[in-house]
Formats: sequence, structure tokens, C-alpha cells
Amino acid sequence: MPRSPPFESWLRPDASGLHCLPGGFHVDPHAPVDRAIITHGHSDHARPGHGAVLATPDTIAIMKLRLGAGAAGSFQSLAYGETLQIGGVTVSLRPSGHILGAAQLVIDHQGQRAVISGDYKRQPDPTCDAFEVVPCDLFVTEATFALPVFRHEPPEGEVAKLLASLRIFPERTHLVGVYGLGKCQRLVALLRQAGYDRPVWLHGALRNMTDYYVRRGIDLGPVPSVTESKDSLAGEIVLCPPSSVADRWSQRFAEPLAGFASGWMRIRGRARQRGVELPLVISDHAGWPELLQTIRETGAGEIWVTHGREEALVHAVTQMGLKARALALVGREDDAE
Ligand SMILES: [Zn+2]
Ligand SMILES: [Zn+2]
Repeated sequence: MPRSPPFESWLRPDASGLHCLPGGFHVDPHAPVDRAIITHGHSDHARPGHGAVLATPDTIAIMKLRLGAGAAGSFQSLAYGETLQIGGVTVSLRPSGHILGAAQLVIDHQGQRAVISGDYKRQPDPTCDAFEVVPCDLFVTEATFALPVFRHEPPEGEVAKLLASLRIFPERTHLVGVYGLGKCQRLVALLRQAGYDRPVWLHGALRNMTDYYVRRGIDLGPVPSVTESKDSLAGEIVLCPPSSVADRWSQRFAEPLAGFASGWMRIRGRARQRGVELPLVISDHAGWPELLQTIRETGAGEIWVTHGREEALVHAVTQMGLKARALALVGREDDAE
């Protein structure tokens, strides 16, 4: 059998991001390009200014809501599982389990298959489709939480901590910092699964995305804006952007108790540094065991690692007997977590 050409002959990082040469597109480019395929709506992946954007219908809707209808010259949607021929490659999108609309990009080229996973997690999430394992030859993985210390326990236990705190401190408003796209809506859904049926109050910055999730049929129960109440909301849950937990805005509430829902809350120092009294370890990214499990399940012989702790994962993948490479793409942040 002839040896396959190296993946770098048709897929390679350049100044704008990961470039698929025979397809003539970039994946989640950080600089404006003619043609982009966008894995999901977080701002470090979905940037404005591209000529043409291909993405799932939800990702396109989210981009338009966040960046405006003119965020790209044109938009083309591709539903999960549909295939499309672009130049010399066939592409399809499969759920990545990260946030609503998030996709892994599958590229088939001359008998080789590459999967670019964007951001992903394996924990169940009532607000988006579950991650699908796609067998492939090259798997491009994120490494946001690629250190053995990052083991994300089931989120139900973290939600139980929040509800226990409400029982212990019924006189205090529980302010929980959440990122506005994904984490906010997932936390509300988890509270509902735990049987919490009181209103979950929202900071104005969380309104648009949450309304979009509700329009898409995700049942979040009552999610009023804090501006709808004159009350100090003692004993209530209020969700807000992480930066608002400690700013002047928080002073209108009753003895606010500061919480933060993030995979980073695994690191006690981070919680302390931010003045977080109630750290909730809830992550929309794969933790260390999930990363290794997923890499194994794809059956890929070669793994490229992007944005995060590349070195540790590259080392572990090499130990598994697979070929590994750190991509070191610029422009990625852990902030969307
Ligand atoms: Zn993301
Ligand atoms: Zn990311």
C-alpha cells in the first residue's frame, strides 16, 4: 500500500489559523479570511470580518446575534450530519457537546479523514446535542484543561452545593458568575433538573443568548431580568457575567454571596484570588480523563493539540504510541469557559 501523504500537505496552520488547502478555507480563523468554517459561537472561534462563513444554523444565528447580521459577507448553514463538497474535500459537521450549535468539523480528503473538534465535552448537557465519536486518522483536539488535576466531577454535585448554600443562607442573594453563552443556560437547566423551580434571575448581559436558547425550545423555566424587580432578592439565585460579581452593580442585593461556575474553580487559588466564596466546578470543556478517552475512541494515529496546556497532552499522547504535535494557534483564550 502506498504511504499516505503527511496531513501537513493539505491541512496546516498559517498566519490566519488552520488552513485546509484543497478546500480553500480556514477553520475558526483569528484574522479575516475569504472562506471560514466556524465550529461554534464563542468569541475566540467566531470572529467578524470573513468573506463567507459556513457553520451550523445555531452557530450562524449566535454569530448574528453577537456580532450583527453583517458579521460576514455571506453565511451558509450546514446541519449536523449533512455533507458538502468544497474544492477537493468533503466536509460535514457533528455535535461536539460544548454549547448549542457547537460542531466538530470532519474533512475527508483522498481517503484520509481529519476531525477538528473545536471545543468539546463528554458530560451530558441538557442544552445541546451530545458529542459524537467520529473515527478518523487525524484528530485535532483542544487542551484547555489538559492537566491531570482537571477531573470534572458530575455537575449535579456542584448544583447541590449551590442549593445547600441557599438553605443555609436564606438571607443572602446568591450571585453566580457565568459566561453568557453556554454556561449560563446550562446552569439554569441543571438547576431545573435538580427540581429548583424558583425564578433564576439574570443580569441584562445574559438576556439575549438566554432568550435565543428559549426560542430554540430549551426549557429553562422562569428567567426574569433583575431589572424587573425592585427587591434585594434575598435567598434568590442571580446569574451575571463573572466581572459583575464584585462590581458596584452587586451592591443592590442582600449580602451578596459570590459564586462562580467554571472548570477553573478546580484551582482553589483562582477562586480565592477572585474572592469567590462558592466555587462551582462546572466545565464545558473535556477534563483530562475525557481528553484521553476521546483521543483513544477516535482511533486516530495522529493528534494535533491546540489552545491550552499543549505540552502535557502531547506527552501523554506520545506515551500512548500515537504521533502528536502542538499547533500553538494564536488568538485562543480560555475565557469562554
Ligand atoms: Zn468554546
Ligand atoms: Zn476554545
